[in-house]
Amino acid sequence: MQAVIMAGGKGTRLSSVTKDIPKPMVKLNGKPLLEYQIENLRNCGITEIFMITGHLSHVIMEYFSDGHKWGVNITYYNEEKPLGTAGALAFLRDSLDDDFLLLLGDLYLEVDFTRFILFHKKNNSEISLFAHPNAHPQDSDLIVALKDGRVTDWISKHTERTDYYRNLVNAGIYILDKKTICGLEEGKTYDLDKEIIAPLIAVGQVYAYRSTEYVKDIGTPERLSCVEKDIKKGIPSSRNLSNKQQCIFLDRDGTINRYKGFVRHTEDLELEEKAALAIKKINASPYLTVVVSNQPVIARGECSFGELEKIHSRMETLLGLEGAYLDRIYYCPHHTDKGFEGEIPELKFECDCRKPKTGMLTRAAAEMNIDLASSWIIGDTTVDIQTGKNAGMKTCLVMTGEAGEDKKYDAKPDLVGKNLLECIEMILGDKE
Ligand SMILES: [Zn+2]
Repeated sequence: MQAVIMAGGKGTRLSSVTKDIPKPMVKLNGKPLLEYQIENLRNCGITEIFMITGHLSHVIMEYFSDGHKWGVNITYYNEEKPLGTAGALAFLRDSLDDDFLLLLGDLYLEVDFTRFILFHKKNNSEISLFAHPNAHPQDSDLIVALKDGRVTDWISKHTERTDYYRNLVNAGIYILDKKTICGLEEGKTYDLDKEIIAPLIAVGQVYAYRSTEYVKDIGTPERLSCVEKDIKKGIPSSRNLSNKQQCIFLDRDGTINRYKGFVRHTEDLELEEKAALAIKKINASPYLTVVVSNQPVIARGECSFGELEKIHSRMETLLGLEGAYLDRIYYCPHHTDKGFEGEIPELKFECDCRKPKTGMLTRAAAEMNIDLASSWIIGDTTVDIQTGKNAGMKTCLVMTGEAGEDKKYDAKPDLVGKNLLECIEMILGDKE
């Protein structure tokens, strides 16, 4: 696959560090941002690169030349006047293959592009967006997607939010079918999000690829220095999905949110004290944060899938306001005991995902390349601890919620913490 990098950014907010260089040439630990991008592409076998340049384009061209030093072939298109986020694509049309990757040049990323490309091919849609949760969803554009990834809505950061929302943000990496740019007129200004993506969302042609990988924009000096520190700690490469991942699996009720019996209504969900701070610490570590929760209320007909989605939206909204995010939420909607009024017969069976069975963990491991043996599970019941034992993981009992008083299993946890924060601090130890 070919890649197009939009490297024309001026970087006004970075002017203190980019006086005589275009923003994508800003150095992180001594190396230009664009060089990291080019190496990432090459490592995934993507060697034909088109670079759209603008402001101070000669600096980029002099540094990379035709790209042979990096094992790639670079072709430049220099925008004499800025044509928005997509106008330049009209000039590349004849050189591009049927599908191409498009990257914003101000991103630091370490991504296994082969997975993203496979996702795009599988859905056969016109556009795939690379999407992820972030630490500030409240001031980000949000993507609303179905379980299979089909995008149904796009919520601008400028619209006032009156409802809870899932934390899913467009990262600035796309795969586009060439059809989507065929109608562009040369020399005209186009906005990628508004004029190309939005109309295709309306007809179901846009899919969101959810990734846990490291993608951050370096728009301000603070973000830049934060990314530099992460690189030194090896966090971006540890998150690259071509490498085995370590994960901290979290139970939901009694662990993240206060235990009040079953949560059936959105407003019933209240975060445990310091749970957001604890999750924020996992987010800054090499570990992924994945929720695994039994929700038999669905099978019993006491809470609908729609209501559960709202409950998870509230959880992600509340966490997001405190700068914390979850990489993924898995839940088991099944239950075997029959006789509940309004129950859903097709969910009443012996599934393989209800904890202490390991179905949710093995599914997560397959989807995110997780090494279970070096991962943890934290929960407030002996069921959670038994689940971890069954999956060959390390286990931690948290003394909130049921605090192990369910006493269904004898499994002994490796660690016990008084709240989620203490558990996380014990697990991360010197890894912080
Ligand atoms: Zn299940």
